[in-house]
Amino acid sequence: MTIKTFNYSVKDKNKSEFFETDYELELEVPASFIEKKSLLTNIKMGTREWAKKEVNCIKGCSTYCLYCYAKGIAKHYKRCIEETWKNMEINWSVVNKNYGRVRKKGFQPYDIMFPTSHNIIIDEPYFSACTTILKKLLDSGNTVLVTLKPSLNVVKSLCELFQNYREAMTFRFTIGSTNSNLLKVLEINAPSFEERLESLKYATIKGFNTSISIEPLLDPTPFKLIEKLESHLPLLNYERDIGTIWIGLLKTQYIPINLRKGDVKELLKHLYPKMQFEHVYHYYEKLYDHPRIKWKESIVKMMILNDIKVKGLTA
Ligand code: SF4
Repeated sequence: MTIKTFNYSVKDKNKSEFFETDYELELEVPASFIEKKSLLTNIKMGTREWAKKEVNCIKGCSTYCLYCYAKGIAKHYKRCIEETWKNMEINWSVVNKNYGRVRKKGFQPYDIMFPTSHNIIIDEPYFSACTTILKKLLDSGNTVLVTLKPSLNVVKSLCELFQNYREAMTFRFTIGSTNSNLLKVLEINAPSFEERLESLKYATIKGFNTSISIEPLLDPTPFKLIEKLESHLPLLNYERDIGTIWIGLLKTQYIPINLRKGDVKELLKHLYPKMQFEHVYHYYEKLYDHPRIKWKESIVKMMILNDIKVKGLTA
């Protein structure tokens, strides 16, 4: 779907404490309310922004992020409770079956995203289960986006095992803050910022395609993260989504109410104002022409709702 647009400028209609100077917004809005609504409805969300299909082989995830969407869905369908999400169970039928080439057509640059509802950890038998599937997916001719909150030992092992598949796979490392203490508040057993940065450096130096997901963004703005990460990415290939940096907001609805206390409560108190349009627009506008940046649906929707132009939508 392409949007019909018209342009106009307004003087600082959203001025707030976050803006130091006056500015002019160039707006592009859908020609009608109906088109805008249809655009919002049709935007691809979550994993569908990146790949045609997703594959997972483990129920539960020991990395345990409080905001986890997969956990939220599993709880909704009574497949786990908050306390049991950390217990991982391999789905051997998924591991043992054969995989063909994904035939589905789509705009997404990758055939398959693996995994989406668990992390890859080095402990056995989980690591072998994951690498067995990954090899099958790649051997069938699929392009695979390997999404991780990366531990260095996992990345080193994957690089060694899959060095002959470098063309067909891309790592996407989730790194939402430069502050390891802050990451620890919501991503309980996930690696530190420093370890994730080392993982990125390692994979890129080894000649793998790498990219970043700053979702959820837990820092006040993404500038510091971009500054620290950008130089460790490979050459940009925007079409193939290699060397890109995706930015998206925290979805707070999956954080259990009873866990919103202490550090979690404090962090959320600081984060809420940073997730409002006025603040997000502040960095959106500055990064709009940054060649590596792509915006996740949470920010794209926010911009459309506020009549701000968005880049290259495919719906
Ligand atoms: S690593 Fe991913 S799947 Fe695992 S708990 Fe965190 S958000 Fe959920």
